[in-house]
Amino acid sequence: MSNKAHMTGSERLGSQAILTIDLDALVANWRAMGARAAPAQCAAVVKADAYGIGVKPAALALSRAGCVSFFVAHINEAIHLRAILGAAPADIYCLNGLPDDSAAIAALLDADIFPVLGSATEWTLWQAQVPNRKAALHVDTGMNRLGISPAEAAVIGATPAADNVALVMSHFASSEEPDNPMNAAQHAAFDAVRQLFPHARASLANSSGVFLPSTPHYDLVRVGYAIYGGNPTPGAPNPMQSVVHLQAPIIQLREVEAGACVGYNSTWRAPSARRLATIGTGYADGLLRSASGSQEKPGAQACIGGMLCPIVGRVSMDLCVIDVTDAPVTATAPGALVELLGATIAIDDLAARANTIGYEILTSLSSRYYRQYVGG
Ligand SMILES: *Cc1c(COP(=O)(O)O)cnc(C)c1O
Repeated sequence: MSNKAHMTGSERLGSQAILTIDLDALVANWRAMGARAAPAQCAAVVKADAYGIGVKPAALALSRAGCVSFFVAHINEAIHLRAILGAAPADIYCLNGLPDDSAAIAALLDADIFPVLGSATEWTLWQAQVPNRKAALHVDTGMNRLGISPAEAAVIGATPAADNVALVMSHFASSEEPDNPMNAAQHAAFDAVRQLFPHARASLANSSGVFLPSTPHYDLVRVGYAIYGGNPTPGAPNPMQSVVHLQAPIIQLREVEAGACVGYNSTWRAPSARRLATIGTGYADGLLRSASGSQEKPGAQACIGGMLCPIVGRVSMDLCVIDVTDAPVTATAPGALVELLGATIAIDDLAARANTIGYEILTSLSSRYYRQYVGG
């Protein structure tokens, strides 16, 4: 990380945790994914406030680095992104489709957004409202969430309006499981459909899809999780750099006797005399309550002075308690920072210990943290 930190918002005071977003690592991850996908183009998926890290700094850094294709979920996200990027060249795709709402369609046209049409109804509406304007077309290859069926695609592909399809895409259901037979089935179904739209660009892979050994990258890959530092190859070492660093200051320390309980409902009991540190981060900050540590189930970890220390007891709204008995005493003074996410504690580690996926960890990062952006 460079130390060229620019602060957003007011000064940090007291127990507030620090969320540091490394924009150089974000750009390096986007470049690495682009190199792996080449000659396909690498689009950045920046929906949900760029997975919680902040769409404005993220999109500006990626655009300056040469990214010209972006995906979001909602029309308001697309319009906001267009305003952020200003005159910079950018194809912006809106994944959640076309609403039957003339004001929304007008706003989408005004901001020059490509809707990703996801049903036969949406396709018909687009042709009726905006003839001869390009759009993306989502074909369902087995996820049954959004997208027209391959049979509907065949009908559309046989009409002259098929030339208005600028991008034909589908989405993997299980690309993070390379051995899942669904990947090959979806690849085969998509291969057949894309032949129907010879003038359109084709896109299938998300982050993990880029790593599948036997599926092509087509013309465009749509990468989110990996550029934010999540591991697109679960079970294997993470090839991405860490982007998100979360550090919380210790508010206070206490020594407890064997048998002492911690937190709401006393779910953790000290097995021996322990040193405990209380930090001002809880579930209202996005440290999920499922990261709690009980007698039965170990909780998430924090890194303190190079030692991994467990969260003990229930994570509460604004606080949690860490057993720092094994950490160096010098690293555990009040005010000392503990790492909750970063170089040592990976997003995927925290997610696994909280019974969820890293995507939910990222998108839960709250606005309550003191945020700083470095690099970019
Ligand atoms: C969110 C999303 C992506 C990005 O997926 P990652 O796994 O984060 O890379 C790509 N395509 C679609 C349709 C999505 O909804």
